[in-house]
Amino acid sequence: MSEQFDVVIVGGGPAGLAAGLYAARMNLRTVLLDRGPLGGQLLNTELIEDYPGFDSIQGHELAMRMGDHARRFGLDVREFEPVMEVDVEADGTKVVRLESGELRAPAVIVAAGGLPRRLGVPGEQELAGRGVSYCAVCDGAFFKGQVLAVVGGGDAALEEGDFLTRYASKVYILHRRNQFRAQPVLQDRARANPKIEFVLEAQVRQIVGDQSVQAIRYVQRGEERQLPVGGVFIFIGFVPNSGLIRPHVEHDAGGYLLTDRELRTSIEGLWAVGDVRAQLTRQIATAVGDGTTAAVSASQYLERRRDQQRQAALA
Ligand SMILES: Cc1cc2nc3c(=O)[nH]c(=O)nc-3n(C[C@H](O)[C@H](O)[C@H](O)COP(=O)(O)OP(=O)(O)OC[C@H]3O[C@@H](n4cnc5c(N)ncnc54)[C@H](O)[C@@H]3O)c2cc1C
Repeated sequence: MSEQFDVVIVGGGPAGLAAGLYAARMNLRTVLLDRGPLGGQLLNTELIEDYPGFDSIQGHELAMRMGDHARRFGLDVREFEPVMEVDVEADGTKVVRLESGELRAPAVIVAAGGLPRRLGVPGEQELAGRGVSYCAVCDGAFFKGQVLAVVGGGDAALEEGDFLTRYASKVYILHRRNQFRAQPVLQDRARANPKIEFVLEAQVRQIVGDQSVQAIRYVQRGEERQLPVGGVFIFIGFVPNSGLIRPHVEHDAGGYLLTDRELRTSIEGLWAVGDVRAQLTRQIATAVGDGTTAAVSASQYLERRRDQQRQAALA
């Protein structure tokens, strides 16, 4: 026997927790599943200074507050419950397959987020949050007046490198090839910025530091080199967790799910919110906004579905 819900939410980061809070508060029978502890990427975030209402808050504290808040409205939260697959039956019912069984609901909100791609060099993991960052908007302001390194050669690396010069005294952009993949307009803008210096054909070997980042070590045309820097920003891609939906669902080339203005995907009764969907910016505030929109849209969908079922029963 599978358990029946109005709404199943996959992922307990800020997007899923906001969706869960709204759905539970609208009296929808809602369950939220996360393969780990609640919080998503908030748990990898040291200090947050750009979430409205909090001058400064630790990531794990914001995660705890969001979880407690949603639970107070009756959200059924299940941690350490990985979703293996979301399938759709002929009548539109969604089947959410878990290791422990399956859940069924007419509405599923996918809030599975994603993770920045790692370089995989010594020092990266050890110094994450202590000078190693994957988000210029989030962390740039912590590096006022410092010399920074950006790693990557695509649009994000050049755009974010340019953005970081608002704070940094100098930004080195290290790229492993001798040409950038980024759009020419972004390359021109970066080239015209006197604070940016390109370091091409540079294979990063190590991020050096004890309590915080002190330097970046790389090999360039066979020679070992080191640049003293106060921070390293890595922009070599982001991997959305969008692969768990069994039927075809529209997505872009990067695997991000495509949605309309109500955050509905190409599958009826399936929403995508937060970092897993194609959008301009991946931030906590936007994830929370997405969760809200999807929960309200799902509630309206469930109303319409009930009306249709009532009418069909009367006919
Ligand atoms: C180091 C770092 C610092 C950041 N700093 C800031 C900042 O200062 N300010 C800011 O606004 N933003 C910041 N961000 C970005 C912000 O954290 C994200 O935009 C936000 O967390 C996205 O929320 P989300 O709910 O969409 O996804 P996530 O936070 O990624 O949460 C997704 C959740 O889904 C779960 N999940 C995935 N797959 C499954 C599955 N198959 N079954 C069950 N559960 C699953 C994951 O375990 C995770 O808990 C930062 C990000 C990083 C990595």
